[in-house]
Amino acid sequence: MQPLMTYSTISRPINSSASRALKGLIGLSLLLLTFSVQAQLKITTTTGMIADLAQNIGGQYVEVTALMGSGVDPHLYKATQGDLRRLTKADIVLYNGLHLEGKMQDIFEQMGRSRPVFAVSSLIPKAQLRQHGHFPDPHIWFDLSLWHQAGQRVLQILQQQDPKNKQAYADNAQPYLNEMLQLHEWIKDQVLSIPKSQRILITAHDAFGYFGQAYGMQVEGLQGISTASQFGLQDIKLLKDIIVKNQIKALFVESSVSPRFIQSLVAGVKAEGHDLSIGGELYSDAMGQSGTPTGNYFGMVKHNVNTIVDALKNAKPQP
Ligand SMILES: [Zn+2]
Repeated sequence: MQPLMTYSTISRPINSSASRALKGLIGLSLLLLTFSVQAQLKITTTTGMIADLAQNIGGQYVEVTALMGSGVDPHLYKATQGDLRRLTKADIVLYNGLHLEGKMQDIFEQMGRSRPVFAVSSLIPKAQLRQHGHFPDPHIWFDLSLWHQAGQRVLQILQQQDPKNKQAYADNAQPYLNEMLQLHEWIKDQVLSIPKSQRILITAHDAFGYFGQAYGMQVEGLQGISTASQFGLQDIKLLKDIIVKNQIKALFVESSVSPRFIQSLVAGVKAEGHDLSIGGELYSDAMGQSGTPTGNYFGMVKHNVNTIVDALKNAKPQP
């Protein structure tokens, strides 16, 4: 607006063609300004964890949008019309794959035939994936050595799609991925501080299988690896038996799954005379609100580990 105001203070009358030319110049400079802002690669991701990878590795060269915000369950998420627009307008689309985005997998596979649409899990060797029946477990972000491979895949994609900034992406990726490996070691130490008999993690659904495998915990979920799967009385009985036999002190609810089944399991076990409490809320398939400590990937991981360790190390029965 500033140039137009300056123009209006010029006392000499200016003919209309000069006025049009000046307006045209202003329009052009605004267009160039817009272009320089839009020169960032537009990346659309499904989960916040993938957006975190893309933002940290892409830095100033990318503009990242995650379709699934805090508290959103990716297993059940259906693309809206707005999402489809964001996906088709993006320069790069990144999704988890391994059927995490159960309702969107077909869309990505179809789009991927003609557009830069990539699964960040694609570099991970099959032998490192947990199998659950016919499907691989998609929750790879809870073994940080696996998520490190997803980060390397994102680096590779950015370098291929935007080769002129290849070095900058490598420079951004290195400290971020190093911190991830340090966090991986820190988690191992934290879990070791829980008494061995208490290293059993019971949650609403099987999101922490890789976590258990990588850091040495037995993991049991009330639902299977997808929240779309059903569970029955037999599953509840099995879990009750594990809790009572091992004198487990705490179960955990998840931010992206309804807490009511875990709450009723806790109530049921307590009614039978055992000490059991809710150990806290874990961020399983979605991060916390952006701008909060759990609104980024490292913060989410640290929160989960601290919550698990605090509850199982020093669990006190609820009054
Ligand atoms: Zn899940």
